[in-house]
Amino acid sequence: MSTVAADCAAPVWPVPAPAAPLDRQQAAKALSDLVARFIGYVGRRLPQDVLDRLAELRARDEAPPAGGAGEAMFETLDAADRPDRLCCQDSGALRVFVRAGAGFPLRGELEGILGAVVREARREAAPPRHDAVEAAGPDPVWIEWEFVPDDDRCTIDVCMAGGECSVPASARILASAAGDEGVAQFVLDGVASCGMNACPPLQVGVGLSSSAESAALLSRRALLRPIGSHHPDPRMAKLEMLLEQRLGNVGAGPQRAARGPSVMAVRVESSARQAPAHGVGVSVGCWAHRRGTLRIGPDLSYDLPSHPGIVL
Ligand code: SF4
Repeated sequence: MSTVAADCAAPVWPVPAPAAPLDRQQAAKALSDLVARFIGYVGRRLPQDVLDRLAELRARDEAPPAGGAGEAMFETLDAADRPDRLCCQDSGALRVFVRAGAGFPLRGELEGILGAVVREARREAAPPRHDAVEAAGPDPVWIEWEFVPDDDRCTIDVCMAGGECSVPASARILASAAGDEGVAQFVLDGVASCGMNACPPLQVGVGLSSSAESAALLSRRALLRPIGSHHPDPRMAKLEMLLEQRLGNVGAGPQRAARGPSVMAVRVESSARQAPAHGVGVSVGCWAHRRGTLRIGPDLSYDLPSHPGIVL
């Protein structure tokens, strides 16, 4: 059982439910429209926690060469905001994480809806940009499912990142004796050697598990957690802090200036593991971390914890 810190606190539903009950077909259409608006919105507006951290970095932005880089990021965001454009042209191959309650009425329709919405968005060119190649199947979207018993709601997390963010991702099994220091070294080596393919300041997700593939998945899930959240286990929270301090000074600041903070945040997710194997995975996100969370009720009322107060 993993300790993924999914943001599933008691939801606030600011948007009223449809006035009359919808039949299944109408409901599927309404859900499809909602998800399409959500994915389009996430491509254009960064989540609030990322904006807050960028504002913090801008406030710390000092003399050249780092000076002005924080300001330039906000200028880019403003420029994207006004004509309703993507805040970076590279949205990569879309990854969607679905946490579906067993009682969510349209659970069976969700996969088809997500595939159709992404196909349609790509046909329209923006957002998101047509970046998926060599797709063996018809739907260029990767979906990770999690089913929740005794729940009638659904949470959809989407994350957009360009290919440069995927380059530094890696996972392997360390000897158990490597301990936290071995984990830290693996993460530092990976990020320092090719993490800067992505545009700093970076977000780093670390997964610890019993196998390379589960560690890789947890590291990807770690990037879904809001900046400022900490692992519930104090040892893991300490590892997050340690990595953030060490990675913060690798010499690649905003817009690759030689100074300034290299990372925005490090989050760790973990699961139980077998004693001899220490699986560790690393995933990287860039400053334009387009992440969104959509919580949907059984009556299709919704809210966006990642973008508080937004009505789609
Ligand atoms: S690293 Fe991020 S900001 Fe840079 S080009 Fe890729 S998606 Fe865009």
